[in-house]
Amino acid sequence: MLAGVRLARTETLSLDRCDGRVPASFSVTATIDVPPFSNSAMDGFAVRAADLPGELDVVGEVAAGAGSLPPVGKGEAVRIMTGAPLPPGADTVVPIEDALETGDRVRLPARERGTYVREAGHDTPTGASVQLPEAALEAATVAVLASLGVAEVEVRRRPRVAVLSTGDELATPGGALRPGQIYDANSFGLGVAVRESGGEAIVLPLTADDPALIERRLRDAAASADLVVVSGGVSVGRHDHVRDVLERRGRLDFWRIAVQPGKPLAFGEIDGRPVVGLPGNPVSALVTFELFLRPMLRAMLGLPGDGRIHVLACATESMPKSTERRAYLRVVVARDGDGYRAAPAGGQQSSQLRPLAAANALLVVPEGEPAAELGRAYEAMLIGPPA
Ligand code: AMP
Ligand code: MG
Repeated sequence: MLAGVRLARTETLSLDRCDGRVPASFSVTATIDVPPFSNSAMDGFAVRAADLPGELDVVGEVAAGAGSLPPVGKGEAVRIMTGAPLPPGADTVVPIEDALETGDRVRLPARERGTYVREAGHDTPTGASVQLPEAALEAATVAVLASLGVAEVEVRRRPRVAVLSTGDELATPGGALRPGQIYDANSFGLGVAVRESGGEAIVLPLTADDPALIERRLRDAAASADLVVVSGGVSVGRHDHVRDVLERRGRLDFWRIAVQPGKPLAFGEIDGRPVVGLPGNPVSALVTFELFLRPMLRAMLGLPGDGRIHVLACATESMPKSTERRAYLRVVVARDGDGYRAAPAGGQQSSQLRPLAAANALLVVPEGEPAAELGRAYEAMLIGPPA
């Protein structure tokens, strides 16, 4: 699925609008020293260390932002503020707390040369290649770019992801349910999942289990989106048409995976756009989104992997699963001594949606095993902070 992913195109944004966006390049070359000049780390006196200890003449003052600087000669001190440029001749700053002032003279203790001086370029020297975290831009990284004088950043455009929910039984929250109807959870849940993964969600109108309509919607979606996500109708029921439409009108690469929840996952394309068919069940849809679509969206943004932390966690109880399939159990992971433990977040049937909302991790229990065993450690993929 990742093999066919194309990198999103880029756009240039001003620095004040780039947070939450993924930079097109994770390396920036510094064109200036940061800080640009040697300056004081304290409010105090700029002096020559060789004159210390001693009583010195106070010959001037430099505040932050000062452009012209009084030189510091032998036996002299200049009053200096935090962030002010170190005047010529001075090599050391003595904080005001250590000074004894009488009139125009100041008595200062001995200090090592260079004390409380921030050298030019000590944070970042000119020409340094500054590596940005492979992630969406956050406060500290934006601050680093600002300190380098960067005013605009080239970022990846958000991949446009069409979200299409299919099913004759679906009704939109806000209206009343007619007999046999349920509320559509996927248009909303998947829309949020797309946005949380860095994409732009284009949520299409609810679509009945009608092959002609599904085909029309898929083609419309393919025309306006980089990736099409369709939920429902990918299984073997008489009214499951999505897979059929892909097979006849597009391309179907595969449509079943040994994963629980989420067996009937389909992948293919229509009109040259990748289409992922998710199981209609909201638990299965959201878990398979996490496993397959989130990495795809990240790859489009130039980001590696799934962006999740994986830890080892010991099962607090035995949790049964399908032996043939790899299970992603909905669990709550909490610290336990030097490690972590995983307790079920609730029932593990794929029709039980609330435990997914309560879970902060998916516990990965391998295919070939009938259950997660009490006390055994399994890989837990954190989808929220540990409890
Ligand atoms: P399907 O994949 O179409 O066989 O649907 C599997 C189960 O998920 C059925 O119980 C559907 O009613 C339910 N389902 C399908 N789509 C949605 C949706 N958008 N929101 C909530 N439940 C759904
Ligand atoms: Mg259905």
